[in-house]
Amino acid sequence: MAGFLLSVDEVSKRFGGLSAISKLSFRVREGSIKALIGPNGAGKSTLFNLITGIDSPSAGQIRFDGLDVTDMVPNRRAALGMGRTFQTPQIFGEMSVLENVQVGYHLRGKASWFDALLFTRRSRREELHTRDLCAAVLEKVGLSAKSHEPAGGLACGELKLLEMARALAMGPRLLLLDEFAAGLTRAETEHMMALVQSVRAEGVTVLLVEHDMHLVMNLSDEIVVLNFGEKVAEGTPEEIRRNERVIEVYLGAEV
Ligand code: ADP
Ligand code: MG
Repeated sequence: MAGFLLSVDEVSKRFGGLSAISKLSFRVREGSIKALIGPNGAGKSTLFNLITGIDSPSAGQIRFDGLDVTDMVPNRRAALGMGRTFQTPQIFGEMSVLENVQVGYHLRGKASWFDALLFTRRSRREELHTRDLCAAVLEKVGLSAKSHEPAGGLACGELKLLEMARALAMGPRLLLLDEFAAGLTRAETEHMMALVQSVRAEGVTVLLVEHDMHLVMNLSDEIVVLNFGEKVAEGTPEEIRRNERVIEVYLGAEV
């Protein structure tokens, strides 16, 4: 049986008087897809920031592959194999789609985006390798036809795919997806779901935040439900669907 790639132990986060996350514990099994759901303000994005190192917890511990990463800076976590997409895509609009993926790739282990932009001195051979790898990732997500267009001209669904490509180019072991299907059409959502499944089939572990219940129920092995920063329930999609407290606080008439 596979071990746990990510462990969140008794994690709390306070913002002044507000308790955004309270003594939260859960684990993500290596090779699985786990979803984090809950109403707006439940603390989902805050938790993603704690896991990726954008922010630090007020208490508790976060372990990645057995290593305590609680106080580790984001790019060290990225270098260890944490990849993420942002709820609002972060792109360089004037650079091409391919260049945006290349910048993401060069960010591995780098101190800043600026640093990542200074990759011109690397050997030509390494550059070509990177270019091929990034082109292959764009092919995988279905964006290769747009490789040489400015990223600023992409539609919403394409921007989400670019975010995904950039995270994948870094070869993550854990992929964190924050509302990656928000604003997508049904067809785009289905494409995204297939993509996540194929990424998982290659051995990548996935933790996702998403409001689309069809997606969550069909894609996840396990679900954690948050409400006001506390864990309301955890289990398989079937268990969550039938859980009285979950229906009360979140699912309501949806299921
Ligand atoms: P979700 O992503 O589940 O909608 P968030 O994690 O964004 O929820 O927010 C959880 C709670 O923490 C909310 O009440 C929000 O207003 C608060 N919060 C989030 N970030 C900050 C911050 N930087 N400063 C103060 N309060 C914050
Ligand atoms: Mg959020």
